[in-house]
Amino acid sequence: MKLPYTDLPIGIDMGLKHFMTDSHGDVVDNPRHFRKSHGRLKKLQQRLAKKKKKSNRRKKAVKSVAKAHQKVRNQRKDFHHKESRILVDTFETIVFEDLSIHNMVSSPKPKQDENGKYLPNGAAAKGGLNKSILDAGWASFIELVKHKAAWAGVTVIEVDPKKTSQICSACHKEGEHKDLSVRTHICTYCGVVLDRDHNAAMVRRFGACKISPVGR
Ligand SMILES: [Zn+2]
Repeated sequence: MKLPYTDLPIGIDMGLKHFMTDSHGDVVDNPRHFRKSHGRLKKLQQRLAKKKKKSNRRKKAVKSVAKAHQKVRNQRKDFHHKESRILVDTFETIVFEDLSIHNMVSSPKPKQDENGKYLPNGAAAKGGLNKSILDAGWASFIELVKHKAAWAGVTVIEVDPKKTSQICSACHKEGEHKDLSVRTHICTYCGVVLDRDHNAAMVRRFGACKISPVGR
């Protein structure tokens, strides 16, 4: 079923707090059952690690882990299919940030103090972050959207994400670089306060307006 149609470009921000936030401020979260099946998978993996090598119990445990993995994969695939269908049926132009120029999935370098002692650098926290990025499967989701869009004649644009968190969607001025931990955009020029992901999605939409294909 087609939803109320709009020819305005939509900016999509893939996030950690929410699976995606669009430039209207609408959010889509990961389904709750994801967490449950992830938890089960982790438990089965821990159980497998304790089994003796080449034992029958180990073989059984390997099977259960594979099954749980498959379940997680299928759930994610269903979710991605559903959400990509909605996007493509609703919008004429969809704008993502180009994840290939994203370097969020890299571990931070260790920091040392003047005595050579290692300082906490948020590696553990970032490690958790990286895991959620990978778990969310953003790249494969975007591929699905592109595939469906190609069939439907919908345009998908990927933009450089570097500056989307720095630029203000209200006044278009460029502010300072924001650390990933800063979840709110507060503009020092116009004073607008927005959720970080919402602001980024809005900036992306303006970007799309500037480079939108001729004749649309
Ligand atoms: Zn501003």
